[in-house]
Amino acid sequence: TRSIPQALAAPEPSISVEFFPPRTDEAEATLWDTVRRLEKRHPSFVSVTYGAGGSTRDRTVRVTERIARETTLLPLAHLTCVGHSMTELRSVVGAFSAAGITNLLALRGDPPGGPGEEWVRHPEGLDHAEELVALTRSLGPFTVGVAAFPDRHPESPDLDHDADVLVRKADAGAEFAITQFFFTVEAYLALRDRVAARGRDLPIVPGLMPVTSVRQLARMTELSGQPVPRSVTDRLEAAGDDPEAVREVGVEITTELAQRLLAEGAPGLHLITMNRSPATLQVWENLGVTAAH
Ligand code: FAD
Repeated sequence: TRSIPQALAAPEPSISVEFFPPRTDEAEATLWDTVRRLEKRHPSFVSVTYGAGGSTRDRTVRVTERIARETTLLPLAHLTCVGHSMTELRSVVGAFSAAGITNLLALRGDPPGGPGEEWVRHPEGLDHAEELVALTRSLGPFTVGVAAFPDRHPESPDLDHDADVLVRKADAGAEFAITQFFFTVEAYLALRDRVAARGRDLPIVPGLMPVTSVRQLARMTELSGQPVPRSVTDRLEAAGDDPEAVREVGVEITTELAQRLLAEGAPGLHLITMNRSPATLQVWENLGVTAAH
């Protein structure tokens, strides 16, 4: 039996990838082509995101279920508290369970107004991811992961608070964390040190996004509220209007980050694919590693 904590504890790095639930038949075909290409490389696990405002509830369940049923991949389903009552959250967790999904990434989700806006919980819902961790753990034998923020969560006063929150999520039953995408290795190492200093041994997987266009980076930055260092945007912009050149620079930046993180002992890498395989496969090939299982 494979599990995400086992993959993260293995001597080889865990290599995992992230998809989002497609909106159209055409986008779904692209996703499945990507899934099949990545399946051949045997990632440690694959995750499927949950749309803003709970908007992709059914699609997230459907895509994750299909991955569980029709592929050899180990799926991880994201779930957020946004717009859901406790009753609805219990029912989504039940739907994942019925679909054979045992790995959940328990998230609060962003405020409907976007990152950094004021968070308002559903009147019968939950306020923090920590409570969703506890809820899912109480409902069945789920392996639960959580989000971590090397560059500080947009609503958080400081990095110590972020580390305290991560520890609370671990104490509620989270067995691993995946970070927001970032470009500064030192920020990741500082977060890991803060958690270790609090006496917790939580594996923290760096989330990396091989940027394939300057527009995509701008959009992801807006959606996540995360800063991008000038050095990164400069390198991408220097590639000019040639999409192929931009993609190459994006792959190069991600490969450098990944190599340094693995050398520093990161338990693995979580690669954001945007439902396309070439950049992710290129980074993986550059690293020359097989993924832990
Ligand atoms: P929390 O841990 O609840 O933290 C939210 C804020 O509240 C933070 O500022 C934190 O410091 C503060 N806080 C938490 N607990 C306490 C407490 N007990 N007391 C005081 N303050 C507290 N969003 C989606 O909509 N769908 C996705 O699929 C998705 N996937 C993601 C995957 C990863 C790997 C990451 C890193 C993020 C993802 N997000 C996703 C975005 C995420 O939902 C947002 O960043 C959200 O704003 C924070 O979620 P969280 O689970 O960290 O919340």
